[in-house]
Amino acid sequence: MTTAHLPKSAAYVVVGMGMHGMSTAWHLAMELERSGKGKGSDVILIDKAGPGAGATGIACGCVRNLYMTSPIHNILRHSVDVWESDPVNFGFQQVGYVSVGEGNQQADYEKMHKSQNAAGYKSDMYVGKEAKSFLKKIWPDFNVDKADVVLHEIPSGYAGTHTAVRALKEKCDQWGVRSFTGISVEGYDMQNGRITGVLTSEGTIKADAVVICAGAWITKHWDWLGLPNKLDMRYPDGGVVKDADMWTYWRLLEGEVLLKDGHKYRTGDDKDPPVLHVELMNTPVITENGHKFPDQHFYMYVRYAAERAGAPGVQGGTIPIKMGPKAVLEPYGHANDLYQADAWFKDYYMATLAYLFDQFKNYGSQFKQRRNGGIGAFTPDSVPIFDWVAENGYMIADSNHGYKMIGVGKLVARHLVSGTPVPELSPFAFTRFAQGKTFGDRNSNCPWV
Ligand SMILES: Cc1cc2nc3c(=O)[nH]c(=O)nc-3n(C[C@H](O)[C@H](O)[C@H](O)COP(=O)(O)OP(=O)(O)OC[C@H]3O[C@@H](n4cnc5c(N)ncnc54)[C@H](O)[C@@H]3O)c2cc1C
Repeated sequence: MTTAHLPKSAAYVVVGMGMHGMSTAWHLAMELERSGKGKGSDVILIDKAGPGAGATGIACGCVRNLYMTSPIHNILRHSVDVWESDPVNFGFQQVGYVSVGEGNQQADYEKMHKSQNAAGYKSDMYVGKEAKSFLKKIWPDFNVDKADVVLHEIPSGYAGTHTAVRALKEKCDQWGVRSFTGISVEGYDMQNGRITGVLTSEGTIKADAVVICAGAWITKHWDWLGLPNKLDMRYPDGGVVKDADMWTYWRLLEGEVLLKDGHKYRTGDDKDPPVLHVELMNTPVITENGHKFPDQHFYMYVRYAAERAGAPGVQGGTIPIKMGPKAVLEPYGHANDLYQADAWFKDYYMATLAYLFDQFKNYGSQFKQRRNGGIGAFTPDSVPIFDWVAENGYMIADSNHGYKMIGVGKLVARHLVSGTPVPELSPFAFTRFAQGKTFGDRNSNCPWV
């Protein structure tokens, strides 16, 4: 439903029709009805473009819990509950997630394995020979030379990027949320730390509560709210990083590979394979004709992705590239000439596939030549911020790795409607930086592990 006239006031205004805005609006509508405190039409959902116009519409769709920041494990447990609640409409393929590392990551994997299971997120860990035979069982042609440790997350998988966008919008409609597309938020009227009006291209809306889910555009909203662009990051061990940038843009390197006629990317027992993630921190990437990439480590992920490639194929990527505190936001995503995946990415990615799988040797011609890429705004410690940023303004800023975190909207809606803090959200408060609770417990070359 796109209603013609923007109301002048509403109980809830949710900004952004990406993963978090739509999930929050849908869950707000359900919580309001169930609690008898209101109804779906109390929720206004606005986007300057439309559903999935930001990162949500171009995400790879991987749903994993491979995080060295343990509190995220609970967020993913709730998220998988939501993915599982309607796997057909979300296009959620619960194929599992397999991460592979070298011996230097064994302690990290042990910690993650323990924490995931403690959070009710079942995973299995394999080391040494067991790791190698586990991988061979799934992919008989897998190169297990460097595979010293494996984590297998059972509830994980991937979702159909566009399928999930359509489903979330439909659920908002089904629950009576009033959606408005093509309407930009242009600022916030603030009085004594309270948002008294959401300023839009079609007039001002007064709201009891505003939920800001602006993806890469978060920097603009942050400025409109009058929040600082630098901060000191205090760590649990007493360390301090002074004057850090509040937001840092990274650009992603992803691509698709079409399968050759008759080639099926399947497990040894003929199933859709788990999503695969490989980080070999001491192994270079070398192409089949001997070109060695300068970084001495190997990082890739891959999933089956016919719904993205438009034909049988796989999709994946590597470590994103750090840009800095500013980015050109329009046009967003694949349309932006500045942030296309670099030419070298194709060779790098195809080399990782060829190294790991016999079935992808001599496969370079199958890389799908199309626009790719996309940027995201990361927080100072690359961990999401879920918190109040004004007395009545809540922000979901997932640090650009939260497509998988569909359950955040559920937890935020519960918090907003009940008025009671939700413990799973509290580690992600903005105050963590000042309180010496900045996250930093990460042994990976990638900012989103
Ligand atoms: C290429 C790529 C691949 C990714 N792959 C994965 C993955 O496999 N798994 C994973 O978990 N995560 C992945 N991510 C990250 C994930 O996509 C994002 O973290 C997530 O989608 C962000 O959702 P969001 O709702 O916060 O923001 P968005 O999806 O960006 O939505 C924000 C919305 O707000 C709207 N908006 C912004 N400002 C205004 C305004 N002023 N007025 C009105 N509307 C406004 C925008 O139009 C947009 O529609 C990927 C990201 C990229 C870029």
